[in-house]
Amino acid sequence: MTTIDHAAPQIAQRRILATAIPGPKSAALHAEKLAAVASGVGTTLPVYVVASGGGVVVDVDGNSLIDFGSGIAVTTVGNSAPAVVDAVTEQVRAFTHTCFMVTPYESYVQVASALNRITPGDHEKRSALFNSGAEAVENAVKIARAHTGRQAVVAFDHAYHGRTNLTMALTAKSAPYKSGFGPFASEVYRAPMSYPFRDGDLDGPTAARHAISVIEKQVGAENLAAVLIEPIQGEGGFIVPAPGFLPALADWCRANGVVFIADEIQSGFARTGHMFACEHEGVVPDLILTAKGIAGGLPLSAVTGRAAIMDAPRAGGLGGTYGGNPLACAAALAVLDTIESENLIERARHMGEIMLDRLRTLSTTDTRIGEVRGRGAMIAVELVEPGSTTPDSALAQRIAGYAHAQGLIVLTCGTYGNVLRFLPPLSMPDHLLHEGLDILEQAFRDN
Ligand SMILES: *Cc1c(COP(=O)(O)O)cnc(C)c1O
Repeated sequence: MTTIDHAAPQIAQRRILATAIPGPKSAALHAEKLAAVASGVGTTLPVYVVASGGGVVVDVDGNSLIDFGSGIAVTTVGNSAPAVVDAVTEQVRAFTHTCFMVTPYESYVQVASALNRITPGDHEKRSALFNSGAEAVENAVKIARAHTGRQAVVAFDHAYHGRTNLTMALTAKSAPYKSGFGPFASEVYRAPMSYPFRDGDLDGPTAARHAISVIEKQVGAENLAAVLIEPIQGEGGFIVPAPGFLPALADWCRANGVVFIADEIQSGFARTGHMFACEHEGVVPDLILTAKGIAGGLPLSAVTGRAAIMDAPRAGGLGGTYGGNPLACAAALAVLDTIESENLIERARHMGEIMLDRLRTLSTTDTRIGEVRGRGAMIAVELVEPGSTTPDSALAQRIAGYAHAQGLIVLTCGTYGNVLRFLPPLSMPDHLLHEGLDILEQAFRDN
């Protein structure tokens, strides 16, 4: 095992193919994995990691892969980002856990205050911290129900909100997320999403009217606690709703006493070229959910929102043993400092321009690329049979497989499995971003 201290700056920022991908040591570990780990826990690319930082992931066989995944939008500030390593190291020496609900500590309060400050809207806010994205979603629904005294929750087509029982109900896609795992939580309803590539380019306000009509006819505002939406859908295919869709929904919620919840678990923390994706349209959610990019890889999530809503549950109604663990809070504070000190919002925009420019150029010569979309460092291509909207998931699999073999980590997503998504860490140098795009261009030429 390699010993690494302050990993990121010491890892060479280049792609190295020392063996086939995966190499022999990874293959041996993977055989052990298959014998030891439940099959339901899948892996996209079974290279076993020993180090990561900047824009690369280094495996046990000495391969160095370009990272277009960030562990699913988590290591936005980079893996083992220096400030995160320092903060967590200091905290782990001081104390590792007391349980905030028993004997609290300052860093939890600092994270809550920071979230209250940086999330959209200048109204009075409160935050509560949890461990995972799904847990934040579950708690947001609890809070909205406690505040409104209503039960129903609306989620959207193509939505992904997690894998626990309530969040499975909120998630749209059956296999692999829901199939065989029912019965699901009740009082969850689904509305149509604005999906310009697949809804005939409906404008945002019109798409919102359709969704609102479904909600009014099938649920009724008087029964509805919350509308829950990802401002840019993640697992569903990096779907960016048409301009005006989100503001119209938020307005309708406000007019009807419905809590408008933005799930920014994947799109938050500088990823899209704003601190939060709602800001692209000036939308101010009542509650905003964060996780993934919040703490550089330490498990942490949050619900942040209007004080009057957040304070509805009584003491003891919210919490959990580990929620807002001190190591995760120390990491989150370092992440926020890093976003600011390294100007990562600007960095995300710059990376987005590079990706959109090169991928749009590629799409002009390859009619299998139906759409290039996304914002900042959250970009995707949707693959189709040439000149149609018929999804081509096999092509997405082939391109991803080719990229993996060449040492580029890419992920797929989408209801139809036909979307390649790119989520590089914002610590990736430009030359690696370009090299990754070179590999993708080659992948399209050879497949
Ligand atoms: C990943 C994700 C979740 C679930 O987060 P976990 O930490 O995996 O529970 C919820 N919503 C969105 C939009 C996500 O991307």
